[in-house]
Amino acid sequence: MIYLDHNATTPVDPAVVEKMSWFLKEHFGNPSSVYPIGRKVKEILNEARERVAATLGANRGEIYFTGSGTEADNFAVFGSVNCLPERNELIVSAIEHPAILESARYLENRGVKVTYLPVNSYGTVDLGALRDALTSRTALVSVMHASNEIGTIQPIDKIAQIAHEKGVPVHTDAVQTLGKIDVDVRKLGCDLLTVSAHKIYGPKGVGALYIRKGTNIHPYLHGGHQERRLRAGTENTAGIVGFGEAVRVYEERGKKERSRIEKLSETLKKGIEETIPRVRFNGHPTNRVLSTLNFAFPGLEAEAILLSLATKEIYVSTGSACSEESEEVSHVLLAIGLRPEIARSCIRMSLGRTNSEEDVETVLRELPEVIARLRKITAFDPED
Ligand code: PLP
Repeated sequence: MIYLDHNATTPVDPAVVEKMSWFLKEHFGNPSSVYPIGRKVKEILNEARERVAATLGANRGEIYFTGSGTEADNFAVFGSVNCLPERNELIVSAIEHPAILESARYLENRGVKVTYLPVNSYGTVDLGALRDALTSRTALVSVMHASNEIGTIQPIDKIAQIAHEKGVPVHTDAVQTLGKIDVDVRKLGCDLLTVSAHKIYGPKGVGALYIRKGTNIHPYLHGGHQERRLRAGTENTAGIVGFGEAVRVYEERGKKERSRIEKLSETLKKGIEETIPRVRFNGHPTNRVLSTLNFAFPGLEAEAILLSLATKEIYVSTGSACSEESEEVSHVLLAIGLRPEIARSCIRMSLGRTNSEEDVETVLRELPEVIARLRKITAFDPED
């Protein structure tokens, strides 16, 4: 098979599987227990915490493990908006992942004023709109580091600078950037940052929220004293160990792989643009996570393209995995100005460690045929 959906999830690296199975066999203790088998687990978790912190340029004490990227996003939003009673306004971008957008909508329905920042046709957030929306009542600005659908990278450092002038903390969802581009919390200047293990060849069901020391935030899950009283619930110990190992593998080998994957992606992009007539590329041409490719094939339904490719064991997606099953048109593609019928014709290919030059050659052979065949059997005139 040719897997071109690494933004949805990645295969677990064999070293991660090995480390997790060692841990599961050898260490069942509860990290909150004070006797040796519990303490040992706590020590192992802290090694993982150290690794995640180091890759983000953070301190160990600033990393809080969660049950997913989604939970870390919810933690950032609800923990910040609930924090100070006089701050009940929220600013998010219009192209956030549902983990942020749905949290914002939930709060909006309960009286919180939410501003959805518009983006330009490349998907870059409008900084003027951010300046206009910020008030002394703003609790949080949340803008994703890069889009899962079109890959566009946001100017988080500038966003943080603008928000901080008004004393407002900034959260960024870096689920789609960790492992693909450098993610350094100090350079980004953010106060909160979300990551998720399964996007970097680690296990599913574990994420982390970076919370800069001194940031005002309330717990999102209430209960025990875990994660320095900010995230209750016995830790997903094996998952966290796997996350730490995935980060180690990334630091050791994954970083070297980045330019290979980017080159493959650029070759695929160029090939598609040269061989398929009337194809349209979505996202920023250069300031993008280059392994993310999103194309519109006007006149066709993305679903038909996806299924045709799947019969050839080429796996792509129609956008974010989370909206895959719904009939809704991508809010990201609408936000960059695509008409709904064009947005419905878009497919996303996201490359990763599993891909080779042969994969790209095969896709460049098969995709033009698939598109030509589908165009022949559809009545829709793309020039309409
Ligand atoms: N944020 C972004 C940008 C994502 O792409 C995803 C996953 O698709 C998430 C958050 C959610 O992460 P998780 O699957 O760990 O809940």
